[in-house]
Amino acid sequence: MSAQYEVLDYIGGEWRKPPNAEGVEVRNPATGDVLARSPMAGSVSEAVAAASAAFPEWRAVPPAERIQPLFRLKQLLDENFDAIARVITTENGKTLDEARAELRRGIENVETACGIPLMMQGDNLENVARGIDELMFRQPLGVVTAITPFNFPAMIPLWFLPYAVACGNTFVLKPSERVPLSIVHIMELIGQAGFPPGVVNAVNGGKPVVDALLEHRDVKAVSFVGSTPVARYIYAQAAAHGKRVQCQGGAKNHVVVMPDADRETTSRIVADSAFGCAGQRCLAVSVAVTVGESRDWFCSSIRDLAASLKVGNGLETGVQMGPVITAQSRERIEALIAKGAGQGAQALLDGRGLSVPGYEGGSFVGPTILDGVPAASELTGTEIFGPVLSVVHAGSVEEAIRLISDCEYGNAASIFTSDGAAARKFRHEAPTGNVGVNIGVAAPMAYFPFSGWRASFLGALHAQGKDAIEFYTDKKVVIERWPKEWSRRF
Ligand code: NAD
Repeated sequence: MSAQYEVLDYIGGEWRKPPNAEGVEVRNPATGDVLARSPMAGSVSEAVAAASAAFPEWRAVPPAERIQPLFRLKQLLDENFDAIARVITTENGKTLDEARAELRRGIENVETACGIPLMMQGDNLENVARGIDELMFRQPLGVVTAITPFNFPAMIPLWFLPYAVACGNTFVLKPSERVPLSIVHIMELIGQAGFPPGVVNAVNGGKPVVDALLEHRDVKAVSFVGSTPVARYIYAQAAAHGKRVQCQGGAKNHVVVMPDADRETTSRIVADSAFGCAGQRCLAVSVAVTVGESRDWFCSSIRDLAASLKVGNGLETGVQMGPVITAQSRERIEALIAKGAGQGAQALLDGRGLSVPGYEGGSFVGPTILDGVPAASELTGTEIFGPVLSVVHAGSVEEAIRLISDCEYGNAASIFTSDGAAARKFRHEAPTGNVGVNIGVAAPMAYFPFSGWRASFLGALHAQGKDAIEFYTDKKVVIERWPKEWSRRF
């Protein structure tokens, strides 16, 4: 398949060819075919200028009117649901069901942001002193930007866009250069939804484009989702340029399997968490900590389940796991598996060297399970971002929590148990921002903050829900006195 899509910037309600449109290849990870070229130097100054020009009018639109294009966007996303899901699968590799699930989660954020007339309300108090009233209004910040990763091409931009514009800001998105096509489709729908030109913009590119956004005087806030090293860089640069910033970083998520967990359900859910989206979810389970006698039954049942997964092109019916994003990613994951094996882990299942008939150009890694990984090793500390589950063993829930605490990341952790006291202890003490109890992917809904602690998050306010409203508004406090004698003058 030759390049069939054109990736353009969406600026001021128009499609623009970025300068230096050569860019990098976007490949279908299942076939290796080139789908498009991703421009690497989009027009940041034009996008920010369009967003700045649109801001005064847009912030003056009453909130109940501002959400009308969001209602239409929700409807358009529903009408184009399967078409967008196919684009997600084609450029990212995940299965169609996984693409549909991601898009549904994204749409839920559009729905939640439609509650802005209630959510954006401020506070007030009469008579803070005699005859003096105090009011707190929330006002939008201005131009805000989001820089997003490859693993959820549609959902993660929708963690930010709906809330930002519903609050009265104007928005510039910088999608991942590895998956720019879903956003091209969504921006087409933005164009039909009735947002005034310049309210929503998308600019393509890599580091130079990100740097230009971080340095631009008129960009007031930066949201980032991606790996921790880049999160740290963006957090520092945005702060140095006086911007409000929230950065969601990488992850290394643990699941603790207690001896009293339901064997069948636990193994099935953990297999889905570890190998769903080929392990390329920031909430994927990466380390299973078996406590006591759960070791034997868990290792054998998870191996059987993982071995039975059908790996292939996510567009095909029956395929349960797709490829990883690029050939380079596959090489990196396979090198980490080799390292784990070299450090004493036993491969219960080794997904290296997998070739899927008919898709020899694809970047496939089979489900991999490494048992007996030393608790403090490169494999338990490194984000692999592939279908690799490390299994370590602990004697108690306390020891399992200590293992989680020793890891620098703090995105999510789950426990599987039928013991309420163990579950409560875990919920209370696990040092992660998202906790699952008998849940494999501890994903918060749109109306809760997408938390994340320690090296998985830099900032104070998270994405989604009420945190998004706090992030995208500034508080203005007004204190008023209207003496009677002054009123008589008019
Ligand atoms: P990435 O950090 O490579 O890229 C993310 C974004 O940053 C992209 O838009 C990219 O163009 C840009 N970027 C990359 N390098 C840059 C640099 N040096 N300077 C400025 N900008 C740069 O991440 P990725 O590989 O696309 O995504 C996978 C990562 O995202 C994983 O680490 C995963 O855990 C993380 N992630 C985290 C969450 C979360 O909620 N915490 C959610 C999804 C993904």
